[in-house]
Amino acid sequence: MTYPDYIDEIICRLEQAGASAYIVGGSLRDMLLGVPPHDYDVATSALPEETVRLFSDMRVIETGLRHGTVTVISHGQPVEITTFRIDGSYTDSRHPDSVRFTSKITEDLSRRDFTVNAMAYNKRDGLTDPFGGRDDLKKRLLRAVGDPHLRFSEDALRIMRAFRFSAQLGFEIEDGTLAGAVAGASGLADIARERIGSEFIRLITSPSPLRPLELMAEHGIFDYVLGGYVPSPRLIRAITDMPPRDIARIAALLSDTDRDSAARILRELRLSGKQITGTLAIMTGARMCVQTPADARRLIAHTGIYAADAARLSEVLGSSPSGAETMTQRQQNTPCSLRDLRINGKDIAGLGASGKLIGEVLNTVMERVIAEPRLNDRQTLLDMAKQILDIQQSKGNKNK
Ligand code: ATP
Ligand code: MG
Repeated sequence: MTYPDYIDEIICRLEQAGASAYIVGGSLRDMLLGVPPHDYDVATSALPEETVRLFSDMRVIETGLRHGTVTVISHGQPVEITTFRIDGSYTDSRHPDSVRFTSKITEDLSRRDFTVNAMAYNKRDGLTDPFGGRDDLKKRLLRAVGDPHLRFSEDALRIMRAFRFSAQLGFEIEDGTLAGAVAGASGLADIARERIGSEFIRLITSPSPLRPLELMAEHGIFDYVLGGYVPSPRLIRAITDMPPRDIARIAALLSDTDRDSAARILRELRLSGKQITGTLAIMTGARMCVQTPADARRLIAHTGIYAADAARLSEVLGSSPSGAETMTQRQQNTPCSLRDLRINGKDIAGLGASGKLIGEVLNTVMERVIAEPRLNDRQTLLDMAKQILDIQQSKGNKNK
């Protein structure tokens, strides 16, 4: 197994100073799986202050000194270096009350969540694997380190991590580990909503979300994630037919709820305003029946940049055969939004309209052009607008 020179340099420097140092965590797991790690985590027996001193010729960010983490920028790459530690007891099932540093790598590994995340490697010692992580990698199994009940009661976020890793890696969750997760689920009520939300979004956008979502549904985990809404097996299957983007997939999962409940659930997951707007637009668009080209243009007019996802969802749910049609309308550049019209608000004002009336006339013109795109010619639209305006104004006069 090899790692880049800039990591080797860090490990060697720590070793030369008399400390031990290893690659650990997700980076090692990915290396063993043959996947290039997105970043490297190094664990060392050196105390944080010592690490800071040893790398004083490089840029050092004191990320989480209290928890023993220092980030060193080595050849432009950030590397997290964390002192071996043992977590103290947990009273809030979130943050350990205290951390204690140790000089033994095996003690550090035993505080980690899953066996596949609890290995260490360097060139000098080879692989340190006290919990059979390598075996579990081969079996594609996610297994808690130590007693699962205890581990999930210490930190309930690990429950979400178990389902997320299962989706990300396509691993089964080992039976005892699953039982521990189910037993500890009520602990999720004490975990910060944004952490649950971020794990959940990672889960659903992963390559293998099906099995973990089914397990979550079967074991009541959604009580703590989607406020008790349980997506049906059909919707869980549907998400794998959606592009792996957060809003596209969450829209699919929430398709059996009404708009208000969906908005509430999305806020609970701490999604951003933009994500919430997008998800709701996709859900609304997916409910529009699209059979004709005019329907497809209407969908685009209503949902804008979310039209493709909306059309796809409607197709996946079998509501309409619209996906291809919507895309064709888009590519043909047929008029679907006010921006595409050959006239604008100023033109309507020029005809003598003002205030709210301008928008009303424009929207009526838009509706007609959606139904018949060939009408989108400037003179035709000006004549049409004049006519609509006359009718509106005569109605207005009658009402006076
Ligand atoms: P990825 O970065 O792809 O999400 P990762 O395994 O690197 O996966 P991180 O959250 O970056 O996950 O954490 C790094 C390592 O720290 C993990 O591999 C694990 O050993 C340990 N770890 C992280 N969170 C916890 C936790 N809540 N409980 C126990 N160990 C944890
Ligand atoms: Mg990581």
